[in-house]
Amino acid sequence: MNSKALHKLSYGLYIVTSMKDNAFNGQVANSVIQISSDPASLVVSINKKNLTNEFIKSSKRLAVSVLSQEVPLSLIGRFGFKSGRDIDKFAGVNYMLTGGGLPYIAEFSLAYLEAAVIDEMEASTHDLFLCELTGAEVLNEGIPMTYAYYQQMKRGSAPQNAASFAPDAKERRNKMDRYVCSACGYVYDPEVGDPENDIPPNTSFEDLPDDWTCPVCGVGKDEFEKED
Ligand code: FE
Repeated sequence: MNSKALHKLSYGLYIVTSMKDNAFNGQVANSVIQISSDPASLVVSINKKNLTNEFIKSSKRLAVSVLSQEVPLSLIGRFGFKSGRDIDKFAGVNYMLTGGGLPYIAEFSLAYLEAAVIDEMEASTHDLFLCELTGAEVLNEGIPMTYAYYQQMKRGSAPQNAASFAPDAKERRNKMDRYVCSACGYVYDPEVGDPENDIPPNTSFEDLPDDWTCPVCGVGKDEFEKED
């Protein structure tokens, strides 16, 4: 069996949020699937270990922010590589509340869906939440983020960067080395720099400040390895 076959499946990219008592939490998820349209229902799959899972089980409600292709890696990192047990993920984030009082990401979302859990099923490491829609709004026009596009963004090969920043392998020879984050797979490409953190293009990895951290997951420079 070649598990890489699973990489051929296509997915969107979402931030699923919920609440418990008066606290909010949320996380990145790619498995949000519409099941029916009348009534409108979804299935959302969430790892059992995640705090968001605990919140959904507690409140039986969740919201889905449908991310735009314009979303910065730092926002995905905040909701995808940090735990709400360690930080308040919403601190400093532009969010608003659905009609039912659940948080959604106001900036960089094309729409939000609000839903009530009507059934749950255990699936080994994950729980599947079958939900009925209780609210939904379109927030912005744009192209929805896909999981595949996010992977390209992380590797500096997204189409919007490719034309100006990503020469092919042959041209790259003799150029500055690229470095890969061992924690999340983000690739630091010196030709691109790290515009989200004011690192200009043509800054070598060695010249990054000592306190520079991975723009996706936040680990330090020492967790990076030179790309093969
Ligand atoms: Fe990282």
